[in-house]
Amino acid sequence: VTTRLPKVGTTIFTVMSALAQQHGAVNLGQGFPDFQGDPALVDAVAAAMRAGHNQYPPMPGLMSLREAVAGKIESLHGASYDPDREITITAGATQAILTAVLALVHPGDEVIVLEPCYDSYEPALTLAGATTVRVPLDPKTLHVDMARVAAALTPRTRAIMINTPHNPSGTVWNASERSQLRDLLRGTNVLVISDEVYEHMVFDGQPHISVCGDPELAARSLLISSFGKTFHVTGWKVGYVAAPAELMAEFRKVHQFNVFTVNTPMQQGLAQYLANPAPYLDLPDFYQAKRDLFRAGLAPTKFRLLPCEGTYFQCVDYSRISEMEDDAFCRWLTEEIGVAAIPLSAFHERPTDQRIIRFCFAKQEATLQAALTRLQGL
Ligand code: PMP
Ligand code: GLN
Repeated sequence: VTTRLPKVGTTIFTVMSALAQQHGAVNLGQGFPDFQGDPALVDAVAAAMRAGHNQYPPMPGLMSLREAVAGKIESLHGASYDPDREITITAGATQAILTAVLALVHPGDEVIVLEPCYDSYEPALTLAGATTVRVPLDPKTLHVDMARVAAALTPRTRAIMINTPHNPSGTVWNASERSQLRDLLRGTNVLVISDEVYEHMVFDGQPHISVCGDPELAARSLLISSFGKTFHVTGWKVGYVAAPAELMAEFRKVHQFNVFTVNTPMQQGLAQYLANPAPYLDLPDFYQAKRDLFRAGLAPTKFRLLPCEGTYFQCVDYSRISEMEDDAFCRWLTEEIGVAAIPLSAFHERPTDQRIIRFCFAKQEATLQAALTRLQGL
């Protein structure tokens, strides 16, 4: 067969989780918690199933959940989205990203991504027949280099994909970066696909800077998030998109023939759970404590810690430990030391000469301690 995705193999997350399992390694690779979500949320979903909420919900998602999402966005960012026409529940952020791209990007369009970037962006663009234009983040700060973004804009640029808090680097946008992007795009037709799946994991008292907080930017943006991250249930695959009605109408045209809609009992349970007073507000402290524990454990080692302002990922430079390329180093670390991590080259088009890997700290304290004990021997 002729492949649609010549550059794509099996994702690094799947590969590293399998390797971790095979070698009995502590899995700090693929990003998922090793603890359960709130039993009240699980109960709400189970109750929905038992109460018979088991048939198709409306195509854009249950209205109660769309209303809850609109309420959450309004209360956090002061932005108002019409749950009827401007919010759609998706099968996680991955489906939202692919659907957004297929709906709004045309063959021959250019789309800017900021490298390093999440591994699903480029395949989505390739499937849409678009050209991926990779703009590196500033190598020192891992923040957006707006001058380079400006230089990458052409009349063919259809969209830019952004991600804050950022996987893998753990950097978060500040308000000035958002206003710079707004000013840069003024007068263009460029759309913004804003991946905000780690929106509730921003540390040290910083705010989450969402595209929706700037009305001018919001008018050209699709905001994407994921309940899997926020409520420790990555396997549920439920997320959402918020966008102005005109963009959402196009999104839904594709969504209805992609998944049509998303599992009912999870939506019902999430809607009920979100009626509690803001069940996501303790997330920054919860993950900040894990970040601090993990960083303190690595501080005496030869790993060099990169900053971590958000997400549940900690990047480290291992050049004082090994000269190996990051891919080989992650395999070695998994097989010989017993800790799995993700090589940063997975977020780049080509292997880099950097010696950086990513650990996920969304783990129970005992898991983090077990990993640290092994890493402290290096
Ligand atoms: N975007 C980023 C930056 C991610 O890290 C992830 C997943 N971990 C996703 C999107 C996909 O989210 P979901 O599991 O909801 O599809
Ligand atoms: N987003 C998760 C990560 O970055 C992985 C999700 C997946 O395996 N597709 O680790």
